[in-house]
Order: sequence, then structure tokens, then C-alpha cells
Amino acid sequence: MENVVIIGTGCAGLTAALYTARANLRPIVLTGIMPGGLLTTTSIVENYPGFPEGIDGFELMTRMQKQAERFGAKVQFGTVESIDFTGTPLRLTVDGSEISTKTVIIASGAGHRHLGLESESLLERKGVTYCATCDGALPMFRNQPLVVVGGGDSACEEAMYLTRFGAKVYLIHRRDSLRASRIMAERTLANPKIQPVWNSVVTEILDVREDRVTGVRVRNLKTEEESLLDCAGVFVAIGHVPNTQLFKGIVEMDDNGYITPKRGTETNVTGVFVAGDCSDHVYRQAVTAAGFGCAAAIDTERYLAALSQ
Ligand code: NAP
Repeated sequence: MENVVIIGTGCAGLTAALYTARANLRPIVLTGIMPGGLLTTTSIVENYPGFPEGIDGFELMTRMQKQAERFGAKVQFGTVESIDFTGTPLRLTVDGSEISTKTVIIASGAGHRHLGLESESLLERKGVTYCATCDGALPMFRNQPLVVVGGGDSACEEAMYLTRFGAKVYLIHRRDSLRASRIMAERTLANPKIQPVWNSVVTEILDVREDRVTGVRVRNLKTEEESLLDCAGVFVAIGHVPNTQLFKGIVEMDDNGYITPKRGTETNVTGVFVAGDCSDHVYRQAVTAAGFGCAAAIDTERYLAALSQ
């Protein structure tokens, strides 16, 4: 039986792995479908302490994994298919095999929120994407007009990144001011290649019949006027949804699916702890996720120590 299984290899999961590994608990860390988590899709991370020049998101996560492995964490590629938290040990089915464990740290993170348009799902990977750093350099987007949807830090970051490749970038936001941090908002609005489209929502992505993105239909929420914008790519950056569906009805969560800890990082299920974006809709930073990962590891270690007394 394992001492601790950590679900997720983002900042929270890998920090929990580092701490539990250094406590000699030999954690198993399950990657899920996105090893390294959402930060691997970011370009330069400028606000993670200790890197005055910034650090590439993928590199930061690779370093975190190496650091945890150095102390004995075992990172295993795999996705949890089902859980049985009804008794002890806790049981997880991972790609068809069962793992029994004394404790679990849920650090499953969050995924990209979708607009919810039919044309969006039909044109995904055909010009609709959720990650500028992953896809922005593709030839289909070079020297073309591009659209970013959203008004937060992610949307600003994507828009600025895309100015390297696109002819111009429309930033379509449903209100008339950005939610992004001031420094990001100012940089974005000062960029001559970025054209904000305020008070507007995308109602359709064109052109499903051509099987590629050729433009968007936009509705101005103030005037109700509809217009068309030509573009070769749509980058959706409208926030995230927690990856917690698997735990629904078992681990307590709020109406939006964020796991709600009882005390510290303890959940309502004995031996199950939580850390990072799957339980945090307030801070959602790499450094806070890492902090929660550390806290979950310490809580887990104390729980295991009390068990063995
Ligand atoms: P966010 O801050 O939640 O912003 C989401 C944006 O999408 C908001 O502007 C929101 O509009 C808009 N939106 C939400 N649902 C929509 C819908 N259905 N249709 C159209 N627009 C919609 O998400 P985020 O930008 O991904 O940032 C998440 C967290 O990560 C934040 O805490 C952020 O600070 C952090 N982050 C930091 C950095 C950095 O510092 N380098 C980079 C990326 C992210 P409203 O404004 O009207 O609500």
C-alpha cells in the first residue's frame, strides 16, 4: 500500500511531491492528461519568486519535477478513472490498475473554460485554440488577423504573445475594462498591434462549412449590433473550470466545482487532502498553488504520523 498518492503534476502537485518525498513518504504522483499542468502552456512566468529574468513555464515545471524526483517522488503517467473513498485504504483505478493508499492529495488543477458555441467545438484545432503559446506559431496564423476572447491576465498574455506572429490581434471582451492586473492591462493596451473590441461577445465562429476559421460574428452588448471580423484564429482565454468531476458527490465542493476544504487542506474525506487551482478560485497563481501544495504535504505528513502512533 502507498503512503500518499498525489493527483496532478502542476505547481501544487509537484510541490506536495517534493515535501512528501523529503519526508520519506515515497509519493506516487499521477500526471493526468496534462503533465506539468496549465503552466506548461504559458510563455514567460515573470512573477514566480527567484527568477528575476522570468522563466519559461515548461522549464519551471520540468525543474519542479526533477527536484521532487531527486528526493524519491515517483511520477507516473496515468489518469485516474475512478475512486473508492468509502473506507481504508483509499482506492484509485488508474488506467485499469488499482492503487491502494493511506492518503490522497488532490491537486488536479483546472482546465480551460469554453465559450460553449457549437461552431467553437466543430472548429477546435482547426483555428480555435485555448493556448497561444502552444499553437500561436503555427503557419496558419502567421501574418493573419487573430482574435483573442477574454479580459483577464491570460487574455492579455495571449494577445501580446500573438503579436509576434499575427498581422493584428483583436481582443474581444464583454465589458469595457480589463480584469487583468494593471501592468498587464497597460502593456496590452499600449501595444499598437492589439485592437480591443469592448462590450462584445463572439456569437459564432466562421466558417464551419469551410472546416477552418475565417472570422467571427460579434455582438455588441450595448447596441445589440452584430458585425463580422475576419481572422484566421480564435484564442479563447475566458478562465478555467476545476478538474473535479471525478470527486463529485464524494468530496465536498461548491456550486462551481471547487473543492472546499474543512480545515487547512483536509477535505471531508478522512485521509484526502486538496491543493491548488482545483480548490482555489481566489488567488490562482503558480506561487499560491505551490504554497497550498506544501501545506497539503505537511497536513498529510502529520496525519500519517498520528496514524502510526
Ligand atoms: P480570469 O481572471 O477569470 O478572467 C477571465 C476573463 O474571461 C474575464 O475577463 C471574464 O470577463 C471573461 N469571461 C469569463 N467567462 C466568459 C464568457 N463566457 N464569455 C466571454 N468572456 C468571459 O481568468 P484568467 O485570465 O485565465 O486568469 C486566471 C488567474 O490566473 C488569475 O488569477 C490571473 O491573475 C492568473 N494569471 C496570471 C498571469 C500572470 O500574472 N502572468 C497570467 C495568466 C493568468 P469579466 O472580466 O467580465 O468577468
